[in-house]
Amino acid sequence: MTNNNVEKMIIVGSGPAGFTAALYTARANLNPLLITGNEIGGQVAITYEVENYPGFPEGLTGPEMVEKFQKQAEKFGARIEYDYVSSVDFTQHPFTVSTASGKEYRAESVIISTGATPRKLGVPGEKEYTGFGVSYCGTCDGFFFRGKDVIVVGGGDSALEEGLFLTKFANKVTVVHRRDELRASKILQDRAASNPKMDYKWSHVVERINASGGNGNGTPAKVVSATLRDLKTNEVYDFPVDGVFIFIGHTPNSELFRGQLEIDEAGYVITDKRMHTSVHGVFAGGEIQDSVFRQVVTSAGQGAAAAMEAEKFLGELEAQSYHEILAEHGLAVPVLA
Ligand code: NAP
Repeated sequence: MTNNNVEKMIIVGSGPAGFTAALYTARANLNPLLITGNEIGGQVAITYEVENYPGFPEGLTGPEMVEKFQKQAEKFGARIEYDYVSSVDFTQHPFTVSTASGKEYRAESVIISTGATPRKLGVPGEKEYTGFGVSYCGTCDGFFFRGKDVIVVGGGDSALEEGLFLTKFANKVTVVHRRDELRASKILQDRAASNPKMDYKWSHVVERINASGGNGNGTPAKVVSATLRDLKTNEVYDFPVDGVFIFIGHTPNSELFRGQLEIDEAGYVITDKRMHTSVHGVFAGGEIQDSVFRQVVTSAGQGAAAAMEAEKFLGELEAQSYHEILAEHGLAVPVLA
């Protein structure tokens, strides 16, 4: 279904960057349309507690934060559409944004804030037993591991933060890390060190995840162990566990933009310091373009910056045509790669 109206501003994605862009562009009277994606709120929606967002000294849960972001953007007139963007065409202006439900929008300006997805280990058993003991979200699944033993894979902030959360339920949480030094922040390392339920397997990797049942006889699969390799001794052994929680970083959700925008080797959409992508009039903020900071507050800041630049671009567009603007900035008309 093609909507013949040309939207001024479409925002793709509903994490902190997307909602902040919606708030800013709504307050600038640009009547933004935000298309949420499959999971409203993105990664913050599955975060147990956010305690480092300024202005909330008591902390708040991820879902509470998403609710507040949405409420504040809607208060100023942002429109929220629960749909998934399936393709875009940035080669012609106005740009085209098509959704999984069959809608086709045209937009003068687009802000991309599609975020990132948890990275996979790629070992046997991981895919098969996801949901049967393998998880990427302690906040979502921790409850099912009351009194059980689990491992957490990774050595970053996510591994420790989620591992600490899991100690509320689990009997024991063993961090399996490929090096003998964590990259997590000092405060989390200190908290983990003083938690008696936390344990470590240093210089270890997971080679396989093993389960019982799930073989068609009516018994659901259930993780029973992880096959670990000690990288120092090369010893391989089965470590009995009920759950495997994987926190080894993220992959940016940029497939949609391949061939349309410049993307780096790791898959991040490339922006300049003013959040402009390689196509004039298309901006990006949050984890889709930030492989370094990845905080709620930095993503929100990048969403605000993208919105302010988009507002400036739309101002230019009122005075001259898109092609005149490109000529003025010495930019080429976007072409498909
Ligand atoms: P990360 O910092 O990239 O850490 C990923 C961890 O997984 C690293 O320890 C890495 O090992 C390990 N790893 C990567 N690939 C692996 C593989 N194939 N097999 C085994 N281990 C593997 O990711 P993150 O913890 O998700 O954090 C991402 C960003 O979000 C960071 O900037 C972090 O500070 C931020 N964050 C902040 C908070 C907070 O402030 N409360 C909470 C969560 C996340 P190596 O160390 O050997 O590379």
